[in-house]
Amino acid sequence: MTSFLPARRHVRTPFVKSPTHLDALADAVPRPYWLDGRQAPEPSSALTADTHADLVIIGGGYTGLWAALQAKEADPDLDVVILEADTCGAAASGRNGGFCASSLTHGISNGMDRFAAEMPELEAQGLDNLDEIERAVLKYGIDCDFLRSGELNVATEPYQLDELGRAAELAASLGHDVRLLSAEETRREVNSPTYLGALSMPRSVAMLDPARLAWGLRDACLSHGVRIYEWTKALSLNEESHGIEVRTPYGKVRAARGILATNGFPPLLKRLKNYIVPVYDYVLVTEPLSAEQLASIGWKGRQGVGDSANQFHYYRLTEDNRILWGGYDAIYYYGGPVRSELTLRPDTYAVLADHFFQTFPQLEGVKFTHRWGGVIDTCSRFCPFVGTAMGGRLGYALGFTGLGVGATRFAAGALLDQLYGRYTERSRLRLMNSKPLPLPPEPFRWIGIQLTRWSLNRADENSGRRNLWLRSLDRVGLGFDS
Ligand SMILES: Cc1cc2nc3c(=O)[nH]c(=O)nc-3n(C[C@H](O)[C@H](O)[C@H](O)COP(=O)(O)OP(=O)(O)OC[C@H]3O[C@@H](n4cnc5c(N)ncnc54)[C@H](O)[C@@H]3O)c2cc1C
Repeated sequence: MTSFLPARRHVRTPFVKSPTHLDALADAVPRPYWLDGRQAPEPSSALTADTHADLVIIGGGYTGLWAALQAKEADPDLDVVILEADTCGAAASGRNGGFCASSLTHGISNGMDRFAAEMPELEAQGLDNLDEIERAVLKYGIDCDFLRSGELNVATEPYQLDELGRAAELAASLGHDVRLLSAEETRREVNSPTYLGALSMPRSVAMLDPARLAWGLRDACLSHGVRIYEWTKALSLNEESHGIEVRTPYGKVRAARGILATNGFPPLLKRLKNYIVPVYDYVLVTEPLSAEQLASIGWKGRQGVGDSANQFHYYRLTEDNRILWGGYDAIYYYGGPVRSELTLRPDTYAVLADHFFQTFPQLEGVKFTHRWGGVIDTCSRFCPFVGTAMGGRLGYALGFTGLGVGATRFAAGALLDQLYGRYTERSRLRLMNSKPLPLPPEPFRWIGIQLTRWSLNRADENSGRRNLWLRSLDRVGLGFDS
């Protein structure tokens, strides 16, 4: 997740450090709220025999599902297979915050730093992409509580107000509908005593139920004849004379073309390890708020909210008026392991709970019902890249960092254009034809990330003053974000 504010934000965090709200976590189950006991589709059978296809897609999150759906929309006769190690939407796509942003570049400021000349086009195509997602939700009857309610980027420190002003001008110049709100106006939208002002972007972000979006896309794929094999982990990928071969535990898939859509999981194409790291992001969800509790915070517009520190929180209402509260800590573990036990992190939940009650003291006494985490695929430029390998037969779309709900559709489409040799508006973008700077190997990777996190934390505590390390990274266009 990100906000539209500049990536280099100068904010002193107002939050305390010793946990005081552990009781609110006492009954929080360690499962994503979105996936908990809610009408998940019956899983498809695993692949148990060798098969052929025109296109094989590895990974059944948004990237894989959007790729399959758009491939079928373009050519209904194409035989498309998805191989999913778990069930579709079980990973990041079914456990995220559900902020579906138009930004393709992890925020406007990050985009300006890296793709300034292309930004008018990137923002226009990003807004089109969000419109297309809204159209697909309607067209396929996807019941995912899609609401184009926008986002509020709130200032909680005086010096953030100037940044909001600059961000508003920039966003308006790039075609966004924006409004700067005073402290009073902000608190009329969502009432926290910590707010000093906000930038409202009512059309640039939609809120949705992430798991129901993934399940709806899965249904749409099936109705188009996509063959989905769940509980089917791809074990290896090999180039063949006429295509690629993917080995799974019980069968092989031979296909003319393939797509790797495996996000932060270990990539089957080894060289991609140089570009992405798995980073864990953590979330809490409260019990449903009563009418009085809801009235005490307002929030009639149901916008997503993000604050403005380097280590930021994102939060929103669910359909049944719970508050989803996530972000702040973004954790990288040495060597980049992806393991389900790492999606649970008690220390982070304790910190998140405290920050929640500091933001909404009027909700003292509210309990959390769910706590979880998930993996994002952070790259050094924080926004997606696509590319091909194996003589143009294998494509990949990765690097979404924490803002992939909307961008996955776009990147999957651009990747299909590349794989099938179509020259389109999106496939010719520099964003879609360039790679992030590679990350150093371990132990330098871990040391660099820890030093960067430590420095970002220091900057948040010291009115945003960036130390020599951060300034050096800024100069070469590197950093760490979620
Ligand atoms: C806690 C959290 C909050 C977030 N909040 C937001 C938000 O509010 N807004 C936003 O825009 N973004 C958010 N994100 C990021 C967003 O969820 C992701 O960018 C997006 O879901 C990526 O989709 P994907 O399909 O690429 O990856 P995934 O959903 O991770 O899918 C990859 C799939 O590949 C499968 N797979 C991996 N290896 C193999 C293999 N060898 N064989 C077969 N299958 C394999 C996995 O099982 C998985 O299902 C958040 C992420 C997290 C974790």
